[in-house]
Amino acid sequence: MLVEGAILDRDGPRRAAVRIRQGRVVETGLPGVVRRRGGERRLRGIVIPAPVNAHTHLGDSVSTREPPIGPVESLVASPNGYKFRLLADRSRAEKVRAIRHAMRRMRREGTIAVIDFREEGAPGEKLLRDAARGSGVRTLILGRPLLRPIDPTELSSVLSVGDGIGLSSARDESPETRRVVARACRRAGKWFALHASEAVRELPDSYLDPRPDLLVHLAKATPDDLRAVAARKVSVVVCPRSNALFGRQPDLAGMERAGIRMMLGTDNAMFHAPSVWRELEFAYVATRLRGRPVSTEFLARSALVEPYRWLGTPDGASISAGSPAVPLVLRLPADDPAYQVVTRTTEHLIVRPGRVD
Ligand SMILES: [Zn+2]
Repeated sequence: MLVEGAILDRDGPRRAAVRIRQGRVVETGLPGVVRRRGGERRLRGIVIPAPVNAHTHLGDSVSTREPPIGPVESLVASPNGYKFRLLADRSRAEKVRAIRHAMRRMRREGTIAVIDFREEGAPGEKLLRDAARGSGVRTLILGRPLLRPIDPTELSSVLSVGDGIGLSSARDESPETRRVVARACRRAGKWFALHASEAVRELPDSYLDPRPDLLVHLAKATPDDLRAVAARKVSVVVCPRSNALFGRQPDLAGMERAGIRMMLGTDNAMFHAPSVWRELEFAYVATRLRGRPVSTEFLARSALVEPYRWLGTPDGASISAGSPAVPLVLRLPADDPAYQVVTRTTEHLIVRPGRVD
């Protein structure tokens, strides 16, 4: 397959022709210089690395009705909020089926990996592992121990199934719990993550010490808070649609200015479909609505580049010959790739080069 148009990857946007064979990039160059070979399929479009959805709660995709309208705390509070009652009410089979459905959608939309905060302790993590098997979407599970004070046996079992721990938030957990969990994650070589400054502002000291590998939201963070996070080089996942449902908005322009390593997530599956493309378009529109525009390149990086760096596989975000990237082709005009990708991508415009190309 030969794609003529543009590349948008970790090195930014540029005009290019890209030859893809067996799902991998084998040659790049200027359009017109890389020539079509006989019998080769030819497309016009933009070649990108497959996106990563950096924050989900796929378990609650078992919810199929509009959730009650109310403060986010009352909906997602553990153990008696709407979400946890729903999870407790539904059978394992129902949850697995709902997650598989969500995974199929992500796969169709080209999503290559997802970072999920999984509730329900080690059994919840096992459920997600089973649901994700064979989905084609790499699933990183940040589980959550249920017992407080932390029970070392439960914590090590949660860590043994998952890829790390994703806590509710600094203000929901004691400093001792955060310390114990962070230490156990380090020892196990796994990730330590938590939600922060979602509904109310929390002090950076509370969520930066112990230093997490990942923070989610920061919708209420001040410019000083953002600078503190950037200085510690802690990556941040923003979920603009989820925040907007509750009248909040992360300051994406402030994050860009502070030099934050930002990623994008779709958050609770009971609120939104796990579509990175919808999240990208909403993020763009919302920042304009607020009068705090953010660059489309920064937004595109949040889904296509930063996650690879966070995962320790930065070459996955490089569209170049021999790179390990899994390329997607978007059938979109090539003049302004980041703008096109952020505002216009839909499932129907995505070509996933396969083994036969
Ligand atoms: Zn979340």
